[in-house]
Amino acid sequence: MINKRGKSKTTEDNKIRKNEIEKIRKILLTQKEELIKKTQDTMLDESEFDKDDLPDEIDHASFEYNQSLTLRLRDREQYLLNKIIKALKMIDEGTYGICESCGDNIDIKRLMARPVATLCIKCKEEQERRERIQEG
Ligand SMILES: [Zn+2]
Repeated sequence: MINKRGKSKTTEDNKIRKNEIEKIRKILLTQKEELIKKTQDTMLDESEFDKDDLPDEIDHASFEYNQSLTLRLRDREQYLLNKIIKALKMIDEGTYGICESCGDNIDIKRLMARPVATLCIKCKEEQERRERIQEG
């Protein structure tokens, strides 16, 4: 069976996909700006603290707790920020939305929901299943 519209449909799909990816680029840029702003805000908050001025042990403890919480948060933000930067680079290079594992196009709906995804849903499920097995 010959599908006469096959080629033109693929071109059309690519065009739609490209438009959607442009929308995702805007989402990613906004997320990037927000993350950078958030990181700067956190640093600003910390500079207002002076550890030596804290009155007693309890406050020291909560200070330490806040410190580690901030660090953990910043680690996670940094991790996400790196992923966003990587995704934006891939959009520029035209490699965005391609599964790192099998090379298939990642479903655009999945990318909309999770712009930093680098695996298609099939490979992601496979990865999660393997991780579960490893964890026992
Ligand atoms: Zn895949």
